[in-house]
Amino acid sequence: MERLTDSEKYKIQAKLFEFCKSETKISELHSERDAENIKEIAPLLSVSKLAIYEYSRLIDEENEKPTSFAIYYDDGNAGSRYSMYREYLGDYSVIRVVAYFTEGVDVSDEISDYAESLCKSLFYIKSRARLTEKFLAAAYYDKTFKIPNLEYGQRVIRKNIEQGEISRYASVFFNIKGLSDINSYIGRPAADKALLNYLNEIRALLSESEVLFRLGGDNFGGLILKDNINPFIRIIKGIPVKYGNNEREIIKISAACGICIIDGNTISSLNQVLDAAHSSMNIAKYQKHVPVLFYDESTIRMLEHTKRIEAGFDDTIKNGEYTAYYQPKVSLENASLIGAEALCRWMKNGTVIPPDSFIPVLERSNRICTLDFYILRCVCKDLRRWIDEGLRVVKVSVNFSRNNLSNPELVNDILETIDEFRVPHNLIIIEFTETTTVSDYNRLKEVVFKLRENEIETSVDDFGVGYSSLSLISQVPFNELKIDKTFIDHITDISQRNIIMIRHVINMAGEMRMHCIAEGVETDDQIEALREFGCDIIQGYYFDKPLEKSDFRSRLKNPDYSHSK
Ligand code: C2E
Ligand code: MG
Ligand code: MG
Repeated sequence: MERLTDSEKYKIQAKLFEFCKSETKISELHSERDAENIKEIAPLLSVSKLAIYEYSRLIDEENEKPTSFAIYYDDGNAGSRYSMYREYLGDYSVIRVVAYFTEGVDVSDEISDYAESLCKSLFYIKSRARLTEKFLAAAYYDKTFKIPNLEYGQRVIRKNIEQGEISRYASVFFNIKGLSDINSYIGRPAADKALLNYLNEIRALLSESEVLFRLGGDNFGGLILKDNINPFIRIIKGIPVKYGNNEREIIKISAACGICIIDGNTISSLNQVLDAAHSSMNIAKYQKHVPVLFYDESTIRMLEHTKRIEAGFDDTIKNGEYTAYYQPKVSLENASLIGAEALCRWMKNGTVIPPDSFIPVLERSNRICTLDFYILRCVCKDLRRWIDEGLRVVKVSVNFSRNNLSNPELVNDILETIDEFRVPHNLIIIEFTETTTVSDYNRLKEVVFKLRENEIETSVDDFGVGYSSLSLISQVPFNELKIDKTFIDHITDISQRNIIMIRHVINMAGEMRMHCIAEGVETDDQIEALREFGCDIIQGYYFDKPLEKSDFRSRLKNPDYSHSK
């Protein structure tokens, strides 16, 4: 009868300990290393064949087919067998460990005990690994999209940093464009399905060492091999994905993305890897037409610019560094000044800074609302003075960012400001851009109605470049519709479609008793086309650029444009 020597016992115990001690993962149990360990100790136990099977559900033992095969040692000489198996975790999966004693060998009780403990240990290790994976799945995975969460993403990044591998990768953060629109357009469940398909397209690109994770909401991140960045960008820029079973249920999804190509020298810590991609995404998100932004020198400068503007904003307001310029609106009918739009300018150390360089930054928070009210005050103050001087004033429109819609006191605040300067309500027009979300839409509707009750007019700015344009103007009683410059730029194109559209928009506005204003008009040809289509209010460089207060005052004194062109 075979017996074990002390050194063999020690060897078996040491190996078992080795199996048990590590934070073993299922995939690690498949490793060559474990197969070698088994190969070493199995013969000591007169075990000729040892296998670990895992079944995804209880199956007939006779037809057993392992769904995953972890460790298998076979010298081709299997005899009687010793096995353990058990139902596991209530998901009907079964783990089975089978040891076959070598044929013809009479096994002592001692060896049999050791073989049993070997099988038991392997069973427990395997079970624990499954449990750990389940636990990790619960703790580190996002259930909706079946991808890891930020914590898991951080683990992967940290591991690559520790192993000195991080410079093979790029970190990416992306934000799905217009998800709330997609939600309202096809419904939440279908939108989730579309997004899942979109993320699956990205996942299909990735190898095991790469990771895609959810940050929360419609924000996602990833660690992607540098070689894989181009196909990833193709998906970010937009691909059609299915949201239903029908072939026609397809929607295009795209994202705004920040990408940091990690060089390992300047960017090496976990926070740097995450921050670089995150802040680039934030810039990409707020800049129209920039779907992908790489983290580089110019991005760093942009970030500094953003931080400076945000940090210094309160002081610039306190110091009164902003002012209103006035761009005339001219009636084609009698070539005279009939209104103006107030446009904000930042007077910084003697230079005039146009709004495009600071308004998008302020729109990232509610700072923009402070600025909008500041400009409204400037306009009211100017109008009051001009009225007191006896000038014939015109209506002035003031831009109000959509962020203001979250202010429950918006209408009251506007009224209070106007009334403080005793400006007649009908001299003020509030310009809003088109809304993108349903809740914004409902709130905008409410605000426009309330302003109207108080004789304050409203205007839809940049008409045609946003979403839901038609339903917006059919339901909300705006007084004015401003056709965006991008349409005016193409008004003389041969392309019929653009012209047909503009003509119909102008007609529609007329029939709905809205004033229609063409923005950004620069040439005689455009004027002719607009005149022909019946749009008779023009705002553009053709007549005037935005004017300083004193120049606009002169315009009020001399509102006639008939000789200026
Ligand atoms: P907007 O409200 O659509 O204003 C029209 C913009 O088009 C102005 O740019 C104006 O100068 C420009 N523009 C007008 N006619 C022409 C033209 O013939 N050719 C060209 N190339 N441009 C023309 P501006 O003043 O740079 O303002 C840009 C945007 O900044 C505005 O677009 C508005 O969205 C925003 N903005 C300006 N002031 C304020 C403000 O006080 N509050 C808020 N929330 N936004 C503001
Ligand atoms: Mg405007
Ligand atoms: Mg506009």
